[in-house]
Amino acid sequence: MPMAREVVQACVVGGGVLGCAVARELQRRGRQTLLLEKHTVGSGVSAGNTGIACTLMGVAKDTVERKCLELGRPQNLSTYRSLGIPHKATGALYVAWTTAELTELAALQDLEDDCRFVQKEELQQLEPCLAPACGAVLVSGEVTVDPGLVPLALALDAERRGARVQQHREVIDARTDGESWILELRDGGQVVADQVVHCGGLSAGGLEPSLSFKPRRGDYLLFQRPPFCATPPISRPIGSVPSPHARGVYVWPTVHGDVVCGPTNVEQEHQQLPAPSDDTLESLRQKALAVCPALAAWRVAGTYAGLRPALEPSAFGHDYLLRTEGRWSSISGVRSTGLTASLGIAQLLAERFSLPGPSDLPGPVLPALEQLPAHYHDGCLRLNSDWQIAHPQTLLGLSTSASLPLPGAESKLKKQKTKMLMHQVIEKQKLERILRDILSLEAERNNEAMADPEVVKAKAEDAIKAADISMSRNMTTAVVPEPSENLPDPTEKPRRD
Ligand SMILES: Cc1cc2nc3c(=O)[nH]c(=O)nc-3n(C[C@H](O)[C@H](O)[C@H](O)COP(=O)(O)OP(=O)(O)OC[C@H]3O[C@@H](n4cnc5c(N)ncnc54)[C@H](O)[C@@H]3O)c2cc1C
Repeated sequence: MPMAREVVQACVVGGGVLGCAVARELQRRGRQTLLLEKHTVGSGVSAGNTGIACTLMGVAKDTVERKCLELGRPQNLSTYRSLGIPHKATGALYVAWTTAELTELAALQDLEDDCRFVQKEELQQLEPCLAPACGAVLVSGEVTVDPGLVPLALALDAERRGARVQQHREVIDARTDGESWILELRDGGQVVADQVVHCGGLSAGGLEPSLSFKPRRGDYLLFQRPPFCATPPISRPIGSVPSPHARGVYVWPTVHGDVVCGPTNVEQEHQQLPAPSDDTLESLRQKALAVCPALAAWRVAGTYAGLRPALEPSAFGHDYLLRTEGRWSSISGVRSTGLTASLGIAQLLAERFSLPGPSDLPGPVLPALEQLPAHYHDGCLRLNSDWQIAHPQTLLGLSTSASLPLPGAESKLKKQKTKMLMHQVIEKQKLERILRDILSLEAERNNEAMADPEVVKAKAEDAIKAADISMSRNMTTAVVPEPSENLPDPTEKPRRD
């Protein structure tokens, strides 16, 4: 049966975080909007990000990226709150592990207002389970957010305002008659739109061959929260000294209480995501344990990866591309900060179209974090309809919570386990402190002006690792249950595009 021909004011192609933000913005400014996504909402590049709504630290001046971040950042927290998107506004720590890195950090802190230098003693108080370090910069404006639920919440908000969100609908051709754009869909349908916004991510070249990409791959390792563990051993993202072009690898707690280490940053020519090499995974594991030795007791639940959709530099440079020609707009090359900038990009576009100011609707679109697991079933969130979840962080968090034993019969056991873990953590913190003191004293006795932080760190790590072996054995045999059969294996996630 031939598919219907639909006529709309605005059509957004692509249901990643950008397409969802744009569709919501157009709809709340009065444009009847249709969003078309060839797979499922948030299943493209947006399913491979870190989930840190970042600050302007390190973002080049006079760029489109910076402008979008400046517009988007002030809206992020209030939007997460109003739509009910799980987030934690903890700030992030960029840690100097050596004295040389400390000097580099000192140069960085002038960059933005919300950066503050943290001495090693305060760092120890902020993050007692962190390996010994020389100091850090606290960037208080960084927010950890559930990256899988951002596009979904934006799409749900667009829908409740009257937009239509259609999944599994791929646009395969576009032509204009001078007045409107006529979009041909793979399912035989046709959409006639006054205005098109193309947010096709990495596969945007299908409709616009001038767009070609040189993606940068980012791999992650996921540590699953043990069921008896209420809080992770670190409370905010821990990064290293960022370089001018990349923020490096983080170790951070997700909003669900799991811990992730990543992303790597490796340029590649193709758009496939084969399984990561053992070396990559081992170096991520080593990195995570070097930052937070307590993670030795946590089970590695899986890995995931994302491809930053960097445009071929020869064609468009390194900046974001926001191009409007007549009734067709393209948003492309939004490589690294797109989750943070999405609301700013949407606003910039709406202002370019001279649309009236947005209206707001009260009330969240997502259930509260603690109620989400009750809506989670088989990789989907059951809300107004079933929404497939693509981001492995969200999948792991929801499936772990959904498989936790119910309170009641289990509560006594749970209390005992929690007590046991707390005891172990406290013992470990004591051990770390004692080790640090001993090593500093030893260095002083040897007439060194200051203990070489590298040596202190290496020795402390060795000793802590040795202590962890017995702890981790206790915990895995005594209390950590086998993973739930329902737990999706992030390595097997079918990739898109
Ligand atoms: C490793 C990594 C880490 C990152 N970390 C962060 C971070 O911490 N903070 C941050 O702010 N940003 C981060 N980002 C950046 C952010 O994830 C991206 O900028 C953002 O997800 C890009 O979204 P998008 O909507 O452009 O692309 P996508 O999510 O890829 O969306 C495009 C969608 O369009 C669909 N599509 C394509 N062609 C068609 C068609 N013809 N018809 C219908 N549908 C179509 C695709 O299926 C896809 O779902 C990170 C990115 C990566 C890769």
